[in-house]
Amino acid sequence: MMTTASTETSTPPRVLLTHHLRQLKLPTVLREYEKVAAEAARDGLDHIRFLLRLVELELIDRERRMVERRIRAARFPAVKSFDTFDFTAIPSLNKPLVLELARCEYVVARENIIAIGNSGTGKTHACLALGLAACQRGFSVAFTTAAGLVHQLMEARDEKRLLRLQAQLSAVKLLIVDELGYVPLSQTGAELLFEVFSQRHERASTIVTSNLPFDEWTSIFGNQRLTGALLDRLTHHVHILEMNGESYRLRQSKARRRMAPTPIDEPRVDADTGEMLPS
Ligand code: ADP
Ligand code: MG
Repeated sequence: MMTTASTETSTPPRVLLTHHLRQLKLPTVLREYEKVAAEAARDGLDHIRFLLRLVELELIDRERRMVERRIRAARFPAVKSFDTFDFTAIPSLNKPLVLELARCEYVVARENIIAIGNSGTGKTHACLALGLAACQRGFSVAFTTAAGLVHQLMEARDEKRLLRLQAQLSAVKLLIVDELGYVPLSQTGAELLFEVFSQRHERASTIVTSNLPFDEWTSIFGNQRLTGALLDRLTHHVHILEMNGESYRLRQSKARRRMAPTPIDEPRVDADTGEMLPS
């Protein structure tokens, strides 16, 4: 394998160029140089402009590859953005605030976000969209559910790699903890989760979603003092997203039912009694 630049005249220049570009990790330059060279010749571009065009292509591609890598590393259950989010469906949500947050300045300021509301109101969608925005702006992101995170922490503790996992969790610029409150936590689980929030406090941003209002969080953590200390840290620099409203899914299925015409040739049956209804 060739490892250094060779001046050997016997090796064709394209072979050498391919080798050097691989070594320098410039895949886009490698893929595009012939095409861009032909364009440069056609457009009468000088060497500097030719090189600039190629280097720009590499930069654009590199940025895209990095965003994709961050999205993969975040382990989102789905990729969702605000482009597909209907703000009119959830009037309690402060749209200007959300759009401001999508610019990710809160990540730089190490502030937190807590989204609270009943099931189906778009909390997961919104935090996925915020996570995606953060990936696009160059921040490392990790997505997890509260139950999943506690499970991971317990497993790491049993396998004596808790410190390593805690270090990983503190290093990520945005940690998204979805669905806090659906499952009550064990004492150990609550303490481990508290430690994660505590370690991130004022160091990096955390987004938490919950179906429970703050005054019911003691039922999640099973301990009033721990809950108090946790809320104290989490809400120190926080943006609250009020997401109480009608379930989006329910609304959609109702709308679908309204849209669907009643079949004429099938008898209609009362869903509760099973009796045939007059057509
Ligand atoms: P939650 O996490 O609050 O229970 P989800 O975010 O899982 O709710 O929303 C349920 C489903 O409805 C998802 O498929 C989500 O994309 C969709 N959804 C919810 N709210 C909206 C909205 N305002 N605009 C578009 N889709 C929405
Ligand atoms: Mg959800």
